[in-house]
Amino acid sequence: MTIHLPNPRLAAAWCSEQRQLGKTIGYIPTMGALHQGHLSLIQQAASENDLCCVSIFVNPLQFNDLNDLDTYPQDLDTDIELLRKAGCHMVYTGTISGFFPEVEHIGQIETRDSGPASKGLEGTYRPGHLEGVYQIVERLFATVGTCRAYFGEKDFQQTLVVKHLAKKMKIDGMGIEVVVCPTVREPSGLAMSSRNTRLSIKQLETAKLIFQSLSTAKNAWQKGIRIASTLEEIMIDVLDHCELKIEYVAVRDPNAWTLHRPDHPLNEAQALIAAYLGSTRLIDNIRLNK
Ligand code: AMP
Repeated sequence: MTIHLPNPRLAAAWCSEQRQLGKTIGYIPTMGALHQGHLSLIQQAASENDLCCVSIFVNPLQFNDLNDLDTYPQDLDTDIELLRKAGCHMVYTGTISGFFPEVEHIGQIETRDSGPASKGLEGTYRPGHLEGVYQIVERLFATVGTCRAYFGEKDFQQTLVVKHLAKKMKIDGMGIEVVVCPTVREPSGLAMSSRNTRLSIKQLETAKLIFQSLSTAKNAWQKGIRIASTLEEIMIDVLDHCELKIEYVAVRDPNAWTLHRPDHPLNEAQALIAAYLGSTRLIDNIRLNK
């Protein structure tokens, strides 16, 4: 059975009670419109912890495009049914005033320093997005308390930002272990995403180029190419399609503190892409050295 708690106060009480009973909690923050990518995180959390808890909250703080927020798919009843089948024990939802009871309106929410990994790439093209993620995830973590928190590698830069947050919260005594899980893909290679439902059949065909481009970079890596700019040029060639509007194509050191382009040959590398197909923004990435 999956219980639904409609606010963070009740969720915090449930989590704290379960911990007092000696249970470990695996936690997955989501914005709903659940697909197999989310469910893989839930399955991993359920297998590694006594209890599995999910939050569903479409966080307005992380949308720099109001149209994207307005059209974000939402279907709570279907999501809860999927969670029940996946073995999730508790799902909680909330509102901005529930998460930030100290403010009267959203503009009063304190801006947080989301760390060096929030600069560049997503930070450049979606100003305020990762700061918005940081602001809400801090409250989501505070609600659940000590836990393992599961995030998808699909949002690679986000995983760096939440690791930074978990480190800071640890200093304040809250133990959150961030677990990064592999990206789940369609048979075509397209990374699963709640936004894929907005793509037409023709756009779904074009979207395959994103994974093809990442895979081409991996082949080049396996042939010994280690310079970021050369790998990026190879990726851009594959993405050459009139319908695909590239925002960035980047090869970065996944262990560096920042996402600046390295000018030295890499030992480890993450290839990342952000591109628009019509009005739908898609992101994806893969590790080249694995
Ligand atoms: P979202 O609901 O888009 O905020 O995503 C919630 C969590 O699911 C994030 O940690 C995402 O990185 C993760 N996620 C989304 N899509 C996928 C996917 N295709 N494979 C694995 N994890 C995913």
